[in-house]
Amino acid sequence: MNEAIIKEIVREIVYRAGISPEGGKGDNGVFEHVEDAIDAAYEAQREWYIKYKVEDRRRIIEAIRAAARENARMFARMIREETGMGRYEDKITKNLAVIEKTPGVECLTTDAISGDSGLMIEEMAPYGVIGAITPSTNPTETIINNTISMIGGGNSVVFNVHPGAKKVCAVCLQILHKAIVENGGPENLITMQREPDMEAVNKMTSSPKIRLMVGTGGMGMVNALLRSGKKTIGAGAGNPPVVVDDTADIDKAAEEIYRGASFDNNLLCLAEKEVFVMESAADELIRKMCAQGAHLITEEETEKLLQVVFLKKDGHYSVNKKWVGKDAGVILESIGIHDTDTRLVICQVPHDHPFVLVEQLMPVLPIVRCKTFEDCVKYAVTAESGNRHTASMFSKNVDHMTRFAKEIETTIFTKNAATLVGVGIGGEGHTTMTIAGPTGEGLTCARSFTRRRRCMLADGGLRVI
Ligand code: NAD
Repeated sequence: MNEAIIKEIVREIVYRAGISPEGGKGDNGVFEHVEDAIDAAYEAQREWYIKYKVEDRRRIIEAIRAAARENARMFARMIREETGMGRYEDKITKNLAVIEKTPGVECLTTDAISGDSGLMIEEMAPYGVIGAITPSTNPTETIINNTISMIGGGNSVVFNVHPGAKKVCAVCLQILHKAIVENGGPENLITMQREPDMEAVNKMTSSPKIRLMVGTGGMGMVNALLRSGKKTIGAGAGNPPVVVDDTADIDKAAEEIYRGASFDNNLLCLAEKEVFVMESAADELIRKMCAQGAHLITEEETEKLLQVVFLKKDGHYSVNKKWVGKDAGVILESIGIHDTDTRLVICQVPHDHPFVLVEQLMPVLPIVRCKTFEDCVKYAVTAESGNRHTASMFSKNVDHMTRFAKEIETTIFTKNAATLVGVGIGGEGHTTMTIAGPTGEGLTCARSFTRRRRCMLADGGLRVI
């Protein structure tokens, strides 16, 4: 065992015991009461904005990346243990993606206009203190990503994390907090209440010290924030459809859909949730997905599975949370099928089946055969439900791709690849865990958490012509 592994184990034992390594009370940004967390973050933000330069932000963000990188495997292990969801190796990939590919201050720009009447500059200024709500599906990933983006924009952050991931979130926050302070940054630039609850969220939305709320999670939470009257950036649910037409490279489609839909047991909001394939390509796609490792279940088994993993009330289906993010093999076992090798269950269903219309967050992918391309588009738009989140297409027909992109209006639209590429995992562009479809900021980065301020020098001043 090398020294690095021994150090990692020691660190993990210390954090699991809830003792901060420097022998403190385990605070490092973690507070018992949200009011104290807000007050401390308020003081920190004033200092961060007034005393520190943009170059300091850059340096401290690099220190945050280094600390998170060192602990990425521990985060993955602790999330898996605390939430019981997803896959360890994929969680490492997600953590590393936000560590390496969340932009810092480099995405902040200044606009300038000069003319006979003088000079105008517009800069990206901080909001102040941001209240950030984070999900159980990407707990540390969202904290790391939001921290880099929000403090990069000159803000401080008070987090209210998902109760189902509160321990690992507190550990992650403390590690990032320590990196900030050890590198000369202010204390309490990132804070949280140790025991997250709805009361804390209400206190955050009604606090005059908090200027912006950012909600990453389900639509219930996003809508609650929007109703609060506080300025909100909302990153809500998705139910990404995939359309496969008769010009698609089916080998590629099978491989990429399998990879994307099974990644972290389909916990990502942007993961492929249902497939609409043209009849002429359907048999080949299903055969090739099975060759990739997918387990195809029969119609009878599909109905049996629906009764297990969904709840039915007043004729409406909803997900039984107990099954969210579980391994495909465990899900199959619930209906008496033994296959621990597969990462993805696939089934054939009509376009209005609950597996198609309800966001599952499980490695169970329904496939709908459609007579025409027009049917694929129509059913995909219905399944996406106006979330404006993510959609994907496998095709070589440019007209088809343009048509679907226009109809679906999603924030992310991927072509001929797993939707994972949409957040820079194996694709170009930056990574974010806060995809703000409902409020329109899109794939957030530091610039999303800034407000524009204009500075004028009139009467033709400060020009050289
Ligand atoms: P969730 O909605 O259950 O919880 C998210 C957060 O909201 C938690 O911190 C929770 O405590 C809080 N919350 C829940 N109801 C609330 C309410 N009424 N008022 C205030 N806060 C409330 O979501 P989850 O199960 O943790 O995450 C999965 C969901 O999040 C999926 O729908 C997924 O698509 C979505 N998601 C979206 C993005 C994105 O970038 N758009 C990213 C990750 C997850």
